[in-house]
Amino acid sequence: MKVLSTVVIVASISSLISIAAPAGAAAPESKSQITILYDAFGTDPSMTKDWGFSALVEVAGKRVLFDTGNDANIFAANVNAKGVDLKTLDFVVLSHRHSDHMAGLNYVLSVNPTVKIYAPKEGFGIYGSSLPSSFYRKDEALPPEMRYYGGTPPQVMKFGAAWGGANFELIDKTTEIAPGMTLIALVSDAVGTKELKELSLAINTPDGVVLVVGCSHPGIEKIVEAAAAINPKIHLIAGGFHLVVAPDDVIAKAVVALKDTFKVESVAPGHCTGEPTFAALKKAFGDRYLYAGLGTTLPLGSNAGSDKRRGEGPALHQDDLATYRRLARREDPFGILQAQRLRTRGSQL
Ligand SMILES: [Zn+2]
Ligand SMILES: [Zn+2]
Repeated sequence: MKVLSTVVIVASISSLISIAAPAGAAAPESKSQITILYDAFGTDPSMTKDWGFSALVEVAGKRVLFDTGNDANIFAANVNAKGVDLKTLDFVVLSHRHSDHMAGLNYVLSVNPTVKIYAPKEGFGIYGSSLPSSFYRKDEALPPEMRYYGGTPPQVMKFGAAWGGANFELIDKTTEIAPGMTLIALVSDAVGTKELKELSLAINTPDGVVLVVGCSHPGIEKIVEAAAAINPKIHLIAGGFHLVVAPDDVIAKAVVALKDTFKVESVAPGHCTGEPTFAALKKAFGDRYLYAGLGTTLPLGSNAGSDKRRGEGPALHQDDLATYRRLARREDPFGILQAQRLRTRGSQL
C-alpha cells in the first residue's frame, strides 16, 4: 500500500515536471534538477573547486551532461563524490571549444565511449568537420602528383576530431534535439573570441524556459533573446554569464536586461559570471537569486503547480503539491529555496 502510494506520488510528480515527451520515453527514475559538478566556488568539502564548468541536467526523464570541466582528474573525482553515474546519460553537450568546458570529456568517454555528444559545428574545429572538396581552387594543368588527391578528390573532405571514434553530432544552427529541448547556437562577436560558436541548452518546461549556459561568449542577452523566441517566459538561467572582467556599467546593463526586459524569474549564476556580477544579480533578484556553487543541486519545477503550466499533464492535487514541495526541499542543501518559499508565503499573508 505504501509502495503503491509512493509510486502514484512519483508518477504525479513526473507529470508535473515533465515536458512534452513521447509516450514511453520517460526514464524509470525521473528527477528534475540541475547539479553543479564543476566550478571554482562552492561549499561541498567532498568536491574540488577549479575554474571551469559542468552540470548534470536531469529533466523529463532525460539525463544530460552539460560541459565537462577543466581537468579530467578533478572532474572524475567530483562526479564520483556526487555519486553521478555517467553510464546512463542520454547525451552530452559541449558548449564550446574552450578547455575549461571540455577537458573532462576523456573521462566521460572512458566510462561511456558511445554516448552522443552534441558540439558546435565549426570549420576545422577539434570536434571534426567536413567540407565539399569544391572549396579549394583547382589547377588542371598541373601533373597529377602535384594535385591534391591526384586530381580526383572525394566529394566531401572529412577533418578529424581530437577524440577519434567519439559519437559527435555537430550543431550548426539552433536545433530542437528532443521534444522541448533546444540547443541554441550563436556566434561570439567579442574581441578575442570572434567567430567562436557556442551552444546553450533551453528546456521548455511547464514553468517556462530553463536555460543552461556555458560561458555565454555570444552575450547572455543574445542567448536569452533566442530562448525567449522559444517561450517568452524564462523560468531560470543557470551557468556562466561571462561578465567576469566586465566593468560596472556593462554588468548593470546586463542585469537590467535580464530582470526588466526579459523578466527572467530566477538566476543561478556560476562560472565566468564574475564576483561583482554575483553581487549585482543578488541585489536585483533577491530571493530569486539561487545559489549554485560546486555541488549544489537545484530542483526544477517548484512553480509548476501554478496556473501558468502548459497543461499537458493531469491537474495536480493539493496533496501531490505538498509532497512535491517536501521532496524539492530535500534537494535544497543550503535551504535557499526553502527560505525563499517561507518568505514568499509570509509576504502573501
Ligand atoms: Zn569559454
Ligand atoms: Zn568558461
